[in-house]
Amino acid sequence: MCGVFGVFGHKEAANLTYLGLYALQHRGEESVGIASFNGKQLSYQKGVGLVSDVFDTARLKKLKGYCAVGHNRYSTTGSSVAENIQPIMVNHRKAPVVVAHNGNFTNTYELHRALEKEGAIFHTTMDSELIIHLLAREKSDDLKEKLIRALSQIKGAYSLVMMLGDNLIAARDPRGYRPLCIGKLHNAYVVSSETCALDLIGARYVRDVAPGEIIKINSQGLQSIHTLQSSQHAYCIFEYIYFSRPDSNIFGHNVYQVRKDLGRNLAREFPVQCDFAMPIPDSGNYAAVGFIQEAELPFEWGMIRNHYVGRTFIQPSQITRDFRVKVKLNPISDVLKDKNIVIIEDSIVRGTTSKIRVKTLREAGAKQIHMRVSCPPIRYPCFYGIDFPTKKELVASSKTVEEVGRFIGLDSLCYLSLEGMLATMPHKPCEFCTACFTGNYLEKPKKGVKKNILELLRR
Ligand code: AMP
Repeated sequence: MCGVFGVFGHKEAANLTYLGLYALQHRGEESVGIASFNGKQLSYQKGVGLVSDVFDTARLKKLKGYCAVGHNRYSTTGSSVAENIQPIMVNHRKAPVVVAHNGNFTNTYELHRALEKEGAIFHTTMDSELIIHLLAREKSDDLKEKLIRALSQIKGAYSLVMMLGDNLIAARDPRGYRPLCIGKLHNAYVVSSETCALDLIGARYVRDVAPGEIIKINSQGLQSIHTLQSSQHAYCIFEYIYFSRPDSNIFGHNVYQVRKDLGRNLAREFPVQCDFAMPIPDSGNYAAVGFIQEAELPFEWGMIRNHYVGRTFIQPSQITRDFRVKVKLNPISDVLKDKNIVIIEDSIVRGTTSKIRVKTLREAGAKQIHMRVSCPPIRYPCFYGIDFPTKKELVASSKTVEEVGRFIGLDSLCYLSLEGMLATMPHKPCEFCTACFTGNYLEKPKKGVKKNILELLRR
């Protein structure tokens, strides 16, 4: 979780980055930062909160230059403190080094230990800071060599937008866990986590940064300088299921279409007799479209969303999360009273949101409540940047499907099968990371993400 965005070659680079981050707000609501460069001077503005809260015209005016890098943060490693706001920025050998990172490394602990032994002093508790240290240690003046050597030492997930001197760098880990794309706006280049941000600023989508690819953009144009090889891709399937915006194309395909197809398959696998179907807004909306088209069921909005409340799970503290869940959706009793309904949801993670939703629907008069979920049970933590870092917070990790259904308070609960989900996907099954469903990790931190970071903080 996190959104990255960069612009090279536009006199409004910072303003465009602001808009890009605005479109990527769903990837992280905790903090935001933009760094810009005018060839001589590096400017930086950052703050805790939403893009629109942190930036106003006065602040944006201070960000001068033709190159900018921005980041929306949702903390998956490191704590939610001001030092951990990205992009990370330093001056090294009289040139700016700016790093914006989405993803989690899996060898943070080992790298951190090795670098500290050699005298590195860390200012943050983020794995992303390692990149700065790895780059700074490289003695070569050759940018390409520096980048290849530094990035080859990192394992795990990274989609990066960086500024190194007068170059904008885009890089993606060799497995391609997280999305990253390139766009063009007149003569300027744009790099973004998702294509929805290109749409907002009127940039044309050029292509994705390929897994393992390192791209350099400067006044000479765009150059693909190297591709780090990997035996296997591991696109995060959860980006399609929940995380990316439905109007984005990621990994080469449209997210809305994939979600709709997941719903279609779900209806085929688990038909249900009831008065009508409804999504849990907004997360279940797109799967619900496919579900009702396939099942030919009447459709209703049984709950209405308050659009002035952000995404519930983004709040790291549990107390705030529960409050936000309640304030976000209001049921319509006139629609629900004495009805047997099926609710469609994209996924169940902790189960706490769904439990509150079902209670609210019952209180509003729904008789039977069935639930259909457009992915399999999430049983294993993610080490690559989605926020379910430990097993114990995943409701399905210790419960059978029937037990989860009872916990949430449902009459029936069915999840789309792993085969059904993979059959819907626009790539071969072997191209995806499905570890949160299967426990089959391609690479794993030795101590698990949380332990890894706590250990770092203690040290
Ligand atoms: P819950 O019933 O508490 O598991 O919440 C389910 C809703 O939160 C679904 O729409 C999930 O897709 C969404 N969600 C997605 N990612 C996360 C996450 N990392 N933590 C909690 N909920 C998430």
